[in-house]
Amino acid sequence: MKNDTIASQFELLADLLEIEGANPFRIRAYRSAARTISSASESLAQLAIAGEDLTQFAGIGKDLARQIVEFVQTERLQSLEELRAKVPPGVLDMLRIPGVGPRKVAVFFRTLGLRTLEELKAACEAGRVAELKGFGKKTEAGILQNIDQAVANAARISISEARVIAESVVQDLRQLPEVLQCEVAGSCRRRRETCGDLDVLAVCSDSAPAMDRLAAHPAVESVLLRGDTKQRVRLKNGVEMDLRVVPEESFGAAMQYFTGSKEHNVEVRARAREQGLKVNEYGVYRDDEQIAGRTEEEVYAAVGLPWIPPELRENRLEFRWANEGRIPELVTLADIRGDMHMHTTASDGAASIEQMAIAARERGLKYIAITDHSKRVSMANGLDEERLLRHWEEIRRVRETIDGIEILCGIECDILEDASLDLADEVLAEADWVIAVLHYGLRQPHDQIMQRLLNAIRSPHVDIIGHCTGRIIGRREGADMNMMDVLKAAADHGVMMEINAHPSRLDLSEIHAAAARDLGIPIVISTDAHSTDGFDVMQYGVDQARRAGLTRDDVANTRTAAEFRGMLRSG
Ligand SMILES: [Zn+2]
Ligand SMILES: [Zn+2]
Repeated sequence: MKNDTIASQFELLADLLEIEGANPFRIRAYRSAARTISSASESLAQLAIAGEDLTQFAGIGKDLARQIVEFVQTERLQSLEELRAKVPPGVLDMLRIPGVGPRKVAVFFRTLGLRTLEELKAACEAGRVAELKGFGKKTEAGILQNIDQAVANAARISISEARVIAESVVQDLRQLPEVLQCEVAGSCRRRRETCGDLDVLAVCSDSAPAMDRLAAHPAVESVLLRGDTKQRVRLKNGVEMDLRVVPEESFGAAMQYFTGSKEHNVEVRARAREQGLKVNEYGVYRDDEQIAGRTEEEVYAAVGLPWIPPELRENRLEFRWANEGRIPELVTLADIRGDMHMHTTASDGAASIEQMAIAARERGLKYIAITDHSKRVSMANGLDEERLLRHWEEIRRVRETIDGIEILCGIECDILEDASLDLADEVLAEADWVIAVLHYGLRQPHDQIMQRLLNAIRSPHVDIIGHCTGRIIGRREGADMNMMDVLKAAADHGVMMEINAHPSRLDLSEIHAAAARDLGIPIVISTDAHSTDGFDVMQYGVDQARRAGLTRDDVANTRTAAEFRGMLRSG
């Protein structure tokens, strides 16, 4: 269990307490504990399991230490369950509206008695929010502007949250002797950026134990319906999960059917029809005879197609590739050899250069770039020229002491609102690796955003554009830009493009990543790790690349360190 997982429970507890109107001292205690936990360099779960005294951490008292142990051991927190029972899920959804925090939500819930996003919207439209003390017309207008997006996102969860839950359910069910096969299907299997529901399929000798086990899973809030072959549950995060029990001879057909997408399956069925066949979730049929269904490969083969990786099943190019016999061999996590974007304690990371390098080496990486923030990001203790030069000195010193991994001196340099770079050219010229990024002024007009990006791309010192659009999935739209023009400029100037693997960014999108590949731009998948746990997100970046149809060759950080260095502009 990761520190962030534990920390998020305490954050949620603090939010709920604040909404409840609890003692501010208690709320602060939970928030500061959450910060301590997420920035700790050791694994709290491991310490808890080893029986270590957790009160050694600042801000963790006896009661909090006990709760950490409780959560690590049971994946539940009694105090959290009790609070959740008092606050309707729709009230927590209000926190998804940009600019709305627990203090405002507390007023909506306790003063106006609002329980859902829809009720909040109606109250804003009636002008009731602007009348509240401490609110005003501007706040109300801001909420109205963003609330539809929050409604759309309320029932969607990130791919990381989806995978953690779905895979934990599958692991759990597979332990039962009555469960013969069990897999995740649906949009989670296709690795979409967010999932609106979760699907799990199983073959069982007896379905009752599997359904009992799912109902008892810690992520499950309640059972919505239960039949012999299908169970629907509501998860604590508000999303629903379906468990379908299917006959063994239909498992492949059901996997194909329930993995989707709908658009992909429409085309599969059309192809079957052309051959006088019928495809459904039970199998492929000629007249009434089942000719395939046990495995997905069998189902695709029966309609004259090669097996298509789930990440490509969106009815974009996969059928054309299949016709031409060139379904790409997609990049895998095991292909990744370097990670070119990460932070240390020099800016807002939780671990030192050494700790990051050793953790990266433990994960099998052969090279990394340390890329702390530049000075514009003062909130994150960004580096000015002088501190940066000293930081690179330190990196070079560490480089001498650690074998088996190369460490590049890098920087994540802000592209300022006036389109200049945040650091002097002569210092940038010294870097092994410069990531240029937009962090501020994301709401500037189109032309200004374009000027900033194109200026950065024209700089001879910039190697790559990081998290290009600046979007935060479900919370913030990306900046207003013409991505094709950005990509063409990058291709002209030999600048690479990043897929930021953090599940809240996944920036570039799969569409833009495919466009970059088509222009011959080397793509680098980076974690943007802020702690040693941060390396774990690499898989989400790889998934995004796979959805873009990228092969190992398309991704620059699958190369050896020497090959990678050869691709840099400075040479
Ligand atoms: Zn950044
Ligand atoms: Zn970063």
